[in-house]
Amino acid sequence: MDKIEKEFEVAVIGGGPAGMMAAIKASEKGSRVVLIEKNLNLGKKLLITGGGRCNITQAEFNNKKFVEKLGKKGQFLFSALAVFGPKQVCEFFEKNGLPVKTERGGRVFPVSDKSPDVLNVLLKRLNKNKVKLLLGQEVVGLNVKDGKIVSIKLKEKEIFAKIIILATGGKAYPGTGSTGQGYFWAEKMGHKIIKPLPSLVPLEIKESWVAGLSGLGLKNVRVDVFQNNKKIDEKFGEMLFTHFGVSGPIILDLSKRIGELMPKGEVTLKIDLKPALDILTLDKRLQRDFQSKRIFKNYLPDLVPQKLGDLIVRFTKISPDKKLNSINKEERKKLINVLKAVELTVRGAIGFGQAIITSGGIDLQEINSRTMRSKIIKNLFLAGEIIDLDGPTGGYNLQICWSTGYIAGSNATNLIM
Ligand SMILES: Cc1cc2nc3c(=O)[nH]c(=O)nc-3n(C[C@H](O)[C@H](O)[C@H](O)COP(=O)(O)OP(=O)(O)OC[C@H]3O[C@@H](n4cnc5c(N)ncnc54)[C@H](O)[C@@H]3O)c2cc1C
Repeated sequence: MDKIEKEFEVAVIGGGPAGMMAAIKASEKGSRVVLIEKNLNLGKKLLITGGGRCNITQAEFNNKKFVEKLGKKGQFLFSALAVFGPKQVCEFFEKNGLPVKTERGGRVFPVSDKSPDVLNVLLKRLNKNKVKLLLGQEVVGLNVKDGKIVSIKLKEKEIFAKIIILATGGKAYPGTGSTGQGYFWAEKMGHKIIKPLPSLVPLEIKESWVAGLSGLGLKNVRVDVFQNNKKIDEKFGEMLFTHFGVSGPIILDLSKRIGELMPKGEVTLKIDLKPALDILTLDKRLQRDFQSKRIFKNYLPDLVPQKLGDLIVRFTKISPDKKLNSINKEERKKLINVLKAVELTVRGAIGFGQAIITSGGIDLQEINSRTMRSKIIKNLFLAGEIIDLDGPTGGYNLQICWSTGYIAGSNATNLIM
């Protein structure tokens, strides 16, 4: 028996959602599994997902529809979803004592609204399956010989394992440990890396007044994207003002397209604060309301969130103390224009530092989609954000991690057994 046999059967590098799920599956049939994580704790990024509530998955149980949301590359996930799709993920957490609920847009959260509860389910399973945890241990390189990884180099020791699962994540939010080291090793071993780019990113806005709205969230609004006076894209839902610009689900989902447009010229956004009302209906409502003697500034909170009131006054130049029944037609028209199109100019997208996800990564052509096994390195499996697959907000990205981690873990042990 060689040195490898005496040590671990499976070594998982990276203790994020993909790595933890891979280690749980690989250890289920009794394999000796080690999970190596450079942070002192597992799941640092998982804890901040969904604003600390963890949007575990997307309640889209039709796999065809799910993959469509991932774009052209989504097809790759078909086999993994068929084995461990959103339905199975919900069942997994519920069976392990964590009830889940579905919110608007199919977003699945734990009923407790606490991401540490999601992490605890995974920690308990790792513990139950006797997975050895090496925490606070950074992998600094991989020794490869004859198309096989022979050992994993840590700062002060070497780990030997028959099978390696690489789940070191992407480059987004590097403060959580996802610094893109895995791309470097994969490339060195002969894998092609599709250029990693920040995706699902907040946008920096030129208009300085946005800073005054920082923290304001808007629900049920529509954002239209324009370039050269041509409407390019639109999204309906929730958004958020930040001290530098805008964020929130619809902005993040538009950010990829905006990032592609930016090199071609200026991009503007128009926020429709009343998308359910067309101009005529809105005008009728205002005409009705403006028969009263109420003062404009007291009426505004009926129309828009409090923080937007000052902005409306500033843009319409209607005196805040004016009585509604003395607002004239022209002023009403200005008000309608603002309500239907608050205009913002995009300065740029925030980079990896605040990106939710990395697009790009290990080329899918070089990975077996049924097993997640590398087609280049015999004893290497890949899982999670490190591969060239990403989706919109709404739980799609964690689902990619659960599915690929599950498949990688179970096929890694199948190879040994
Ligand atoms: C703010 C934020 C909110 C998000 N919210 C959601 C959400 O609600 N729903 C959703 O679906 N997605 C969400 N995402 C995306 C989701 O978190 C990621 O898709 C997911 O965490 C990727 O999992 P992973 O296991 O592939 O990698 P990661 O979670 O990045 O984990 C990789 C791990 O590998 C470790 N590692 C890296 N290099 C080494 C090394 N050399 N040695 C040892 N260990 C190493 C890292 O420390 C890290 O712990 C969010 C992302 C962010 C940033």
